[in-house]
Amino acid sequence: MYNDFTYKTYKKILLKFLSGHKNLTFSDFKRPKINYERFFIIRHDIDYCLEKALKMAEIDNSLSIRSTFFLQLSSPYYNLFDDKSYNIINKILSLKHEIGLHYDVNNYETRNKYNLKKEINILSSLISRKVSSISMHNPGINGLKLIKHQNLINAYSNMFKKNINYYSDSAGSWRNSTYDFLTSEIVPKKVQFLFHPIFWDSSKGDRYIRLDNFINAKKKYWVNEKFNIEKLWLNHKGLKEHMKRINKK
Ligand SMILES: [Zn+2]
Repeated sequence: MYNDFTYKTYKKILLKFLSGHKNLTFSDFKRPKINYERFFIIRHDIDYCLEKALKMAEIDNSLSIRSTFFLQLSSPYYNLFDDKSYNIINKILSLKHEIGLHYDVNNYETRNKYNLKKEINILSSLISRKVSSISMHNPGINGLKLIKHQNLINAYSNMFKKNINYYSDSAGSWRNSTYDFLTSEIVPKKVQFLFHPIFWDSSKGDRYIRLDNFINAKKKYWVNEKFNIEKLWLNHKGLKEHMKRINKK
């Protein structure tokens, strides 16, 4: 069942932590002397789809779990500054979750105008609250570039990797260690679990089905936008005059 990537399975995984583990978000570690014997952190890196992030935010909240959602400022797939995204971010925050920055080092290397500090400031200003946590996008592809900053908590720092069991659904797949954990009755004392919302849905499906669904929804969206743009043009006064002139000839 762990390979069906359904919300039902997702909930089953979360339920593993709910007896006897303290639920923490990353910014909780800013508090001095945080020293829980047993805890879990649920992390969501948002690479593609904010709507799916909200769905997971709602499921987490239905189990009284607070998670940390890491958002990209320069995603080619979503724009944090449009109204739809703004509403989703506010809904996620209203469900008591934390928002962090999902940084892409490619931007820092190729585009001088971007750097981590600027992105933190922009994201903080957008969500009207302090952003304290960061996670790197695609460390498996780009190689882990651990940006250290005294005021920021990095999800890949030793603090969250060395003494904490780390599990992830990266590429819509389970590493052996993760699958062993999922199929075992034993829950380690300290856990960070990374879920990417793109891979999860109400019905069964693998990474390719999820990607197809995502792309098809985008296609539908852009076909509709094409219609809206054309409608906008048709109502433009200048275009009406232009067409009248052309048709006269
Ligand atoms: Zn990512």
